[in-house]
Amino acid sequence: MSMLTGLAAMRERQSEIDEAVAGFGTFVPKLFLKDGESAKVRFITDFETAVVSGDFHSMPQVSKTGRRWWKMFACTKDSGACEHCDAGNSPGFRFGMWLWVHYVLHTQQKDDGWEAVVVGQTTLFKEEVDGPMLFSQGWRVSCTLTAYFDKRGTLSDRDYDVSRKGKSQNTTYTFDPDDPSVFNEDIPELPPIWGAMLDEVMMDGTSQAAFKTTVAAKKEEVAAAPVKAAAGIQDVNALLAQLSSLDTFFDEEEED
Ligand SMILES: [Zn+2]
Repeated sequence: MSMLTGLAAMRERQSEIDEAVAGFGTFVPKLFLKDGESAKVRFITDFETAVVSGDFHSMPQVSKTGRRWWKMFACTKDSGACEHCDAGNSPGFRFGMWLWVHYVLHTQQKDDGWEAVVVGQTTLFKEEVDGPMLFSQGWRVSCTLTAYFDKRGTLSDRDYDVSRKGKSQNTTYTFDPDDPSVFNEDIPELPPIWGAMLDEVMMDGTSQAAFKTTVAAKKEEVAAAPVKAAAGIQDVNALLAQLSSLDTFFDEEEED
């Protein structure tokens, strides 16, 4: 294998590997708001008949790159043993549903890609989404939405501004309703909410575990192939060959 020098070359190699697996599948997008963030949404899961809920364990995870996140596991105590209950973790109620997210207003910019908008005294950064995202929350938010549903008989007849204030135990979500409006977006076929909550399915409904295995195998395959730098060296050789033929040409001219 050819030797690469410098971080830039290594990054290029990493992106080459990532490109090889791009388009293999799409993870289920989830709406996570941070303190001070909001989103313009439409509830697209029928709240009366199709919302999904149960008892879950949220377990902290750390990815290979150091990113921290929470993974949900269904509590299995009602059908016998539950390893997470046995380990001392308390399960909590969660529900899940699909939202159509028009846009998200973030508190922090990402890669200069989001439009800066001033809301009140605050500058926020607008991410245009225009697509479905999973929304999963606990008991308090379910009570708030149930109250809206009881008042109107539906959650889906208008858009809402969902905003989050506060952190961890002091978090409050508010749902600010717009006037009723017609919803015209084409909703694609969506994977099962339960599987999406548990990170078991991809957006097309296929298994997330199978996807990860396929991607890992493809990355190994690309990583084992000769690096692009080797092709670069061949180009240099070709250039040297051209230069030497030019030398011959000039030599011939001089002889004239
Ligand atoms: Zn449990």
